[in-house]
Amino acid sequence: MDHNQQLFERAQKVIPGGVNSPVRAFRAVGGTPRFVQRAQGAYFWDANGNKHIDYIGSWGPMILGHGHPAVLEAVQKAALDGFSFGAPTEREVELAEAILELVPSIDMVRLVSSGTEAGMSTIRLARGATGRKTIIKFEGCYHGHADALLVKAGSGLATFGNPTSAGVPPEVVQHTLVLEYNNVEQLEAAFAQHGADIACLMIEPIAGNMNFVRASVPFMKRCRELCTQHGALLAFDEVMTGFRVALGSAQSVYAQLIPGFEPDMTVMGKVIGGGMPLAAFGAKRAVMEHLAPLGGVYQAGTLSGNPVATACGLATLKEIRKPGFFEALSARTQSLVAGLAAAANEAGVPFRGDSQGGMFGFFLLDHLPQNYAAVMKTDGPRFNRFFHGMLDRGVYFAPALYEAGFVSAAHTEADVAETVAAAKEVFASL
Ligand SMILES: *Cc1c(COP(=O)(O)O)cnc(C)c1O
Repeated sequence: MDHNQQLFERAQKVIPGGVNSPVRAFRAVGGTPRFVQRAQGAYFWDANGNKHIDYIGSWGPMILGHGHPAVLEAVQKAALDGFSFGAPTEREVELAEAILELVPSIDMVRLVSSGTEAGMSTIRLARGATGRKTIIKFEGCYHGHADALLVKAGSGLATFGNPTSAGVPPEVVQHTLVLEYNNVEQLEAAFAQHGADIACLMIEPIAGNMNFVRASVPFMKRCRELCTQHGALLAFDEVMTGFRVALGSAQSVYAQLIPGFEPDMTVMGKVIGGGMPLAAFGAKRAVMEHLAPLGGVYQAGTLSGNPVATACGLATLKEIRKPGFFEALSARTQSLVAGLAAAANEAGVPFRGDSQGGMFGFFLLDHLPQNYAAVMKTDGPRFNRFFHGMLDRGVYFAPALYEAGFVSAAHTEADVAETVAAAKEVFASL
């Protein structure tokens, strides 16, 4: 009896597609989603009782692995004191202080409940602070499902986009410019034409929603220069990369490569909640002071800064700040990617992987793609066979080739070895 299949059939009767977020439905790879019964450390067990090595970790938040004792204790303790008050608490202040300490580009921060909310509010704040309408986003970057951001490039250079979702009127995206990632020429053309109207440029510095694609240093440098030159705000969407690729987030990685580099605004989520619904957006004081109740940009949330979520986030940040945490996490992640590469090489399967901190990606290609169109040229059916081969062997990678993967502090070298051994078999069968 397949309990995953049974649950999936039951779910499909009452929840659209059987899931509460589309990628969980396995549409890209086919087959039956695993319904998770419980998780501990680097593993979860599905409804059939099968154990999986989890390289998704809730799509990034579980950087310590599942059920970390210190986090669990903090959450249990917080829950005893109350679930939600709709009034301020000390832990919100503590979490804001911790974020400011770790990410020096942020002077003030507002807590919200999801990355979508944080991204949407960032756009509104950028528009309110600059008095401008136009925003730039890049094809293949995901910033949550707010209307103005569900948009793909139109035809031609630096055009305003077309909605990617039904229910988004074209008028709503008419101020969103969609450009190709890592394309300096398009970027320059867009600023040359629209510079005085651009409120903000929003970017995933290391794009994790088209597998794993880094913004090149020259491209990032140009983004910074052009925003400064034209009075636009550079908004880093670090919902995935924040506290995941480095303690100082992706902006600290770019600051090492580009002296003095800082974004103007930062969007955060995933790791800062440690698995609870918590996200944030922050910027310099002068920008953040446009936000209500200080300024005219409205933004609010009944559950914002939730006391249980902030406890979870604070406990998570406390662990990742311990000396050597990111060195060990990076080493484990690199060892996984190198192991997979060697296994593919042995089987003559093209493979290129990359990682930063505890985030990784790989392509069944002989090069690393630099933009969304190149990512989408990868061999989908082959990836799907790889995915299912690994799943059958108890290794859970993302069920779509355009998603990044995540290693946690709970993953051991033995887990990596088991994963690589499974990959050897699967690559040989491709
Ligand atoms: C996950 C993600 C979001 C959306 O966050 P949700 O909490 O799912 O709404 C936004 N931006 C990036 C880069 C993400 O990875």
